[in-house]
Amino acid sequence: MKGDQYRIALDTLIKTHLIGTKKSTKKRSDIDVSSHFILRAAYCRTEELRRWFLTQECHLFRHRLEKVTRSSKRNLHEFLSQSGIHFHRIPEHEKQELREFLLSISSDNKTMSPMEFSTTAYFKIPFLQALDLIQSRQVYLRNGFAYVPTARLVSIITARFRAHLSKSLTRASNAFSHIAESERIGPLLKSMNQQYIGKDYSQNKQVEGSITADTVSDVVERSMPLCMQQLHKGLGRDSKLKHFGRQQYGLFLKGAGLSMEESILFFSRMFSKLYTPEQFQKQYAYNIRHMYGKEGKRANYSPHNCTKIIMGQAPQSGDHHGCPYRHYDDSSLESLLGKLHISSTDRDAILTQKKLKNYQLACAKHFEAVHPNALGKQGVNLEGVGNHPNSWFSASLSYHNRGQNDVKMEVKTEM
Ligand code: SF4
Repeated sequence: MKGDQYRIALDTLIKTHLIGTKKSTKKRSDIDVSSHFILRAAYCRTEELRRWFLTQECHLFRHRLEKVTRSSKRNLHEFLSQSGIHFHRIPEHEKQELREFLLSISSDNKTMSPMEFSTTAYFKIPFLQALDLIQSRQVYLRNGFAYVPTARLVSIITARFRAHLSKSLTRASNAFSHIAESERIGPLLKSMNQQYIGKDYSQNKQVEGSITADTVSDVVERSMPLCMQQLHKGLGRDSKLKHFGRQQYGLFLKGAGLSMEESILFFSRMFSKLYTPEQFQKQYAYNIRHMYGKEGKRANYSPHNCTKIIMGQAPQSGDHHGCPYRHYDDSSLESLLGKLHISSTDRDAILTQKKLKNYQLACAKHFEAVHPNALGKQGVNLEGVGNHPNSWFSASLSYHNRGQNDVKMEVKTEM
């Protein structure tokens, strides 16, 4: 998702989770600031968490700053002076001297009109602070300085924000062990990255036509995210799954509507090359009933969300759990995507996100690649794609305009 689509989606999330709360502006702003610092404390402890938090905060910061800049350039100048950020604005005569060079620079393949040029202020900024813009040739460079028009200051300010936040996170990580000792907030901070506030898939809801042991295989390639496809294929190849794989796939299928009885039937069939039905009952059926809250402490276990899978136990040899975007190396992922007939352009886009360690964005990109124009399609809810495997699955089912009813119907027709 990019451009306006991305901005609209982000605005919706901000509205739902912050502005939508019935609090005064002052209270909302306090909540915003407090939640930022709580998350800083929770996400400072490992490099991976710091990187994730940094990326999300920079996206949010940039989005908000672009909004401020779009609404009025004066707002941006106010923001700069309130934040104590000073850039050297070049005088009018220097701007006119450089006119030809400044006008030769284009952004998004659009060159600035003479009218726009006359009303635009330019800032002279050391090139090290403008690397992003230099890389994308969006600024004029001379004698170690980048000449940046007001509209592109957002990149420079975001880079500063990123550097500042990155340093603060590293400092906070040094102090984390002291905070973690606190009995009151230590456990909360340590588990916060695994919390999930999206749609609840813990209920095993069966509607007419829910997937069954007979129909699971029919929806794997078409509607399951890569992690679940790999688990299903691994299960088919090995006729078994190790503990973490059974948990990840079993709970996913529970959230997708597979009943407990059908789950036992499905796994016992898949294990049948290695285990007789009696052996399966003895060794594995308890585990499935446990997942459905029918054994042990009878807890209602939720399917794993993406953060939990990505940050969880990495797969070892013979394991099939985990997230392919996080746990596969670049060449294995590339060849896997090739086998799925994903075009080379989409493959490159997915791999770029993977290399940037934006695993969930890589997954969302995969969804886009195999569900063209999903965003505009009626009845397709993309919220949660890239955050939860079950959201990916249900968005895909609705994209194909085949509710769970149709999975059954399709199989009946084939028979
Ligand atoms: Fe699965 Fe989530 Fe990884 Fe996608 S990002 S492959 S849904 S764990």
